[in-house]
Amino acid sequence: MIEHVFEIDPSASEECLRERVEDLERLKSKAAAAQARATALWRAKRHAAEKAAGVPASKRGRGLASEVALARHEAPATGGRHLGFATALVEEMPYTLAALECGALSEWRATLIVRESACLSVEHRARLDAEMCRDVARLDGWGDKRIAAEAKKIACELDVAAVVDRSAKAAEDRRVTIRPAPDSMTYVTALLPVGQGVAVYASLKRSADTTFDGRSRGQVMADTLVQRVTGRPAEQPVDVTLNVVMADTTLMGDDDAPAWLQGYGPLPSAIARGLTGDAVRDAAAKAMLRRLYRHPGSGQLVAMESQARAFPKGLAAFIDLRDQTCRTPYCDAEIRHRDHAVPRRRGGPTSAGNGLGACAACNYAKEAPGWSVVTSERAGVHHAEFTTPTRATYRSTAPPLPGPPVRKVSRLEGRLSIDLITFDAA
Ligand SMILES: [Zn+2]
Repeated sequence: MIEHVFEIDPSASEECLRERVEDLERLKSKAAAAQARATALWRAKRHAAEKAAGVPASKRGRGLASEVALARHEAPATGGRHLGFATALVEEMPYTLAALECGALSEWRATLIVRESACLSVEHRARLDAEMCRDVARLDGWGDKRIAAEAKKIACELDVAAVVDRSAKAAEDRRVTIRPAPDSMTYVTALLPVGQGVAVYASLKRSADTTFDGRSRGQVMADTLVQRVTGRPAEQPVDVTLNVVMADTTLMGDDDAPAWLQGYGPLPSAIARGLTGDAVRDAAAKAMLRRLYRHPGSGQLVAMESQARAFPKGLAAFIDLRDQTCRTPYCDAEIRHRDHAVPRRRGGPTSAGNGLGACAACNYAKEAPGWSVVTSERAGVHHAEFTTPTRATYRSTAPPLPGPPVRKVSRLEGRLSIDLITFDAA
């Protein structure tokens, strides 16, 4: 029956194909509802088993959010949202769950309703659930914004103090993030309380209003932002350390293999050469070259050993360069910790082989009972295999270093030297 839905008849009419698209959309919502039920039941069973085993209430369910995320092939950081969504929907919001099940809501729209109800008491949440989704015909034609706005309106009517309180708490989540943009540009995004955000923007706009030098308003605002944050004019090289990894052949202009900028990602060779050239020319900056070696087969950084307890600076830098982001599958978060795959207390060595780059959340999740990580190195590829309490296994491998394809170049007895360039204006 279900299989039939997935077969697409090449001779089908457009009407049939439109119906098939609609059927499949309903099926996705239905699957999301079933996934929520399974997730909520999984959580209940985990908590019951841990209670029976004498685990204190405050420690029950540790690491489960990461397990849910891995099972969904998503970043562990999203696990808490999926787990909270499933629990709220199944245990407290029957009408929203039913609307998801019948296809009146997508998973994301149901998530928006759960999110807007999160600050309410159980009783108020039940009322929001009924008002919002008892009559699913109401939801017809509503987009994401309308859904979120209607749910927020009901939440405000039920308990305006709780909604205001939550806005105050949201300020605790203020942060600055970075992500790549096309054409070797980047977005630096600040999430700020509304007053501060508007003030930042207005202040940049004021500089644009008072500067007339041929630059566009957007250019003046961007340059002013850079100058005020870094303390140096936008056209001067930066005064913080940038780690650029590139092949020596790329540095010399012999090839155009992409470089890699720590904290950003792949960088076209010409821009990487420009950055390093700026550092060399700038009298205030100190350009430093450090030589790394990559494996002739896999292209990965080769291993180092250390006996020290904490990961020493050089080894930590090595792991950061090798792993680039948190090594948990599907997690692309920035590395915050150099983690022992086999913990120190169980005899795990402080070594590149046993070391893993991890974000804070994944490092913490992995400490929960029933988790284990085994690392291995085969043909120059660093593997990590994560086993969760339900005996699911997930694998991750470190990415290769930049440079031209390895098989084309062999020197230094089969090892290609890569220059790691750090420049630092101290
Ligand atoms: Zn992570």
